Amino acid sequence: MSKDSVLVINCGSSSLKFAVINPKTEEESISGIAERLVGNEAFITWKLNGEKQTLNLGAAGHEGAIEALVGVLRDNNLMEHIEAIGHRVVHGGEKFTESTLINDDVIKGIEDCSHLAPLHNPAHLQGIRACLKYFPGLPQSVVFDTAFHQTMPAESYLYAVPYSLYKEHGLRRYGMHGTSYRYVSKTAADMLGLDYDNSAILVAHLGNGASACAVKNGKSVDTTMGLTPLEGLVMGTRSGDIDPNVFSFLNKQLGYSLDEITDILNKKSGLLGLSEMDNDCRVIEDAAAQGNERAQLTLDVFCNVLAKKLAGFAAEMGRIDALVFTGGIGENSSVIRKNVLERLSIFGFEVDEKANEETFRGKSGVITKSGSTVAIVVATNEELMIARDTEALIAG
Ligand code: ADP
Repeated sequence: MSKDSVLVINCGSSSLKFAVINPKTEEESISGIAERLVGNEAFITWKLNGEKQTLNLGAAGHEGAIEALVGVLRDNNLMEHIEAIGHRVVHGGEKFTESTLINDDVIKGIEDCSHLAPLHNPAHLQGIRACLKYFPGLPQSVVFDTAFHQTMPAESYLYAVPYSLYKEHGLRRYGMHGTSYRYVSKTAADMLGLDYDNSAILVAHLGNGASACAVKNGKSVDTTMGLTPLEGLVMGTRSGDIDPNVFSFLNKQLGYSLDEITDILNKKSGLLGLSEMDNDCRVIEDAAAQGNERAQLTLDVFCNVLAKKLAGFAAEMGRIDALVFTGGIGENSSVIRKNVLERLSIFGFEVDEKANEETFRGKSGVITKSGSTVAIVVATNEELMIARDTEALIAG
């Protein structure tokens, strides 16, 4: 049995996703999720050889989920293939500019960034500590969502608020989805034969959470998410950019508390709030296709905000070598891609209708006509990127 695979762990506040991936062959031998880790109805589901299985875990927290995962891996003879563990970590603040192997200082560093991601970083730490206990002796790494954006210049990441808030409290833009941007921008450059170190690539990562990024010469120079994932684009349930005085308006005029307003902007806005239908883009697209005006308006707001951001990034980079669509919506929705590209026709985009229609469900490829500025769909794979980083780190 060869030790050739990485166990990728992604802990959320009440869930834990995992996958065992061979970074060389890109083969995924098992993947799954442990859910409801708060309460006493936790369960773990996994997919192996095309078959799905579930096990109830009772009152398991993250540690109980890792213990159960060890059992699943042992029972399926996968344990002996695992050479290392790679953890996704949402926030690395200004401390972490790249992926790194875990030691006591790194754990302390993640703790120090917890105030910037109070729901995520403590959950990641629970997963890391449980893995240290249940996989003793295996090297472990952390791969940060924020790290790729640490190359942003100060003119991109600073808010125009009192400078002391940045200096003393870290109030600045950090950005998210960095692992996805790193993967899809490099993959797009390779597919298009671009020199990555001398390129200007726009990326729209459109999932339930959505953001865009300007990648110049292989480095993030600007992105739409900020201190938190709320800033920027219209998302499934997040508002994206709003006038910050909406907070005082909702509080003073309508009597909402701070927590209620945060809840409205994060969980009840975006596609869901505007359409009053669903946060799932498919539902809204279907309604729009049947003539529902609100649904069409919702899609248009989503695309208008995205197009304006991308146009701004194009100005910042001075040129566009490629625009990459990724994430659940970016990879699957020909409707959204066409709508956005038509708004950006000033930059020379011309949609290839057939290619656009035929690119979905994990397919990657160019969706613009020859002679057009290039737009391309690339299926993201953050887990593979984490596995690759982890293997590179243990290889030294
Ligand atoms: P997350 O941010 O949770 O990782 P994903 O990248 O998995 O999200 O994207 C999920 C979203 O992708 C869904 O909410 C749905 O809106 C959208 N989506 C998936 N398939 C399609 C499709 N065929 N057409 C339009 N939107 C789609």
